[in-house]
Amino acid sequence: MAQVWGRVLVTGAAGFLGSHLCDALLADGCSVIGVDNLATGSLNNLEHLAAESRFTYEQADICRPFDFGEVDFVFNFASPASPADYMRLGPETLRVGSDGTVNALEVAKKYGAGFLHASTSECYGDPLQHPQVESYWGNVNPIGPRSVYDEAKRFSEATIMAYHRYYGVRSGMVRIFNTYGPRLQPNDGRVISNLMMQALRGEPLTIYGDGKQTRSFCYVSDLIRGIVLLAKSGEPLPTNIGNPEEWTILECAETVRKVTGTTSEITFKPMPEDDPKQRRPDITKAQRILGWQPEVPLEEGLRKSLEYFRSKV
Ligand code: NAD
Ligand code: UDP
Repeated sequence: MAQVWGRVLVTGAAGFLGSHLCDALLADGCSVIGVDNLATGSLNNLEHLAAESRFTYEQADICRPFDFGEVDFVFNFASPASPADYMRLGPETLRVGSDGTVNALEVAKKYGAGFLHASTSECYGDPLQHPQVESYWGNVNPIGPRSVYDEAKRFSEATIMAYHRYYGVRSGMVRIFNTYGPRLQPNDGRVISNLMMQALRGEPLTIYGDGKQTRSFCYVSDLIRGIVLLAKSGEPLPTNIGNPEEWTILECAETVRKVTGTTSEITFKPMPEDDPKQRRPDITKAQRILGWQPEVPLEEGLRKSLEYFRSKV
């Protein structure tokens, strides 16, 4: 595939996905400017790049206008992502999805750079259509506790389409489904980090509700490979990237128990408000336009993540 970038900017670079993306772009020969305000990320995720001359780190809040010089491509990954984080940081999440996205788009507009935004399966809300295909408009509660995230991301998508249509920005957006792997913050409250840490500590595994709600879990290397392909494709419309294998949360907990060998029991807690009942990406579009599909099944991905989570106990 043709080289479409040399100098790229990644917002949210100190986060779980942003840091893996920086690694992939550096491996692809790019120079990378990583921007983050450490709201939910950690410099530990970038420690291994300390001696990398093609990587620079800028600490900045992208809700304020920023410019770190000419770039060929902007990856906009800054935003709290775990429900526990975005509910704690509600107004900040709305601002990074709105002002932050506008500021990142302004950089792309100024330099004629490409732009790829980390959107989310949350745009589909508690979906009434299953699996979720990109043409589905979603079922989102605009005033519920999750709306600070869902509506921020939907606003981002609308803003990106406006910059594309009105200013000709070469933009794209990836609707990311639940992703896990090394560097997922151990205490960020997402289900894989919670269950893995609880299992390794010998604590009860917390299941919210009856555990029959479903999610589809994508291993991080599969996701990042899809994102790089999508960025290079120039596709402007939203594209789902995720693993279509669908698991109930109870089945996920059983797989965590198997992989960790824990004897931890399962304990049931109340279901959070507006928690989506089912979620599975339809990846026909990504398969068709990118030739992409995930390769790492859940059990294998959890085994690959085991050493990382063990190091955090
Ligand atoms: P993360 O919390 O690990 O990383 C997000 C990063 O953004 C953090 O380093 C944080 O400090 C930074 N950030 C937040 N607000 C900022 C601001 N105002 N200015 C600068 N930096 C800021 O989360 P993640 O899982 O790596 O998610 C990355 C992106 O992917 C997010 O946009 C998220 O919405 C999206 N996404 C992730 C998933 C997933 O399963 N991990 C699913 C769907 C979408
Ligand atoms: N969940 C759970 N136990 C936990 C954390 C989460 O049962 O310790 C459930 C949560 O209610 C949701 C699913 O697991 O149904 C995925 O939650 P997560 O916070 O990882 O992401 P979401 O897909 O909801 O954004």
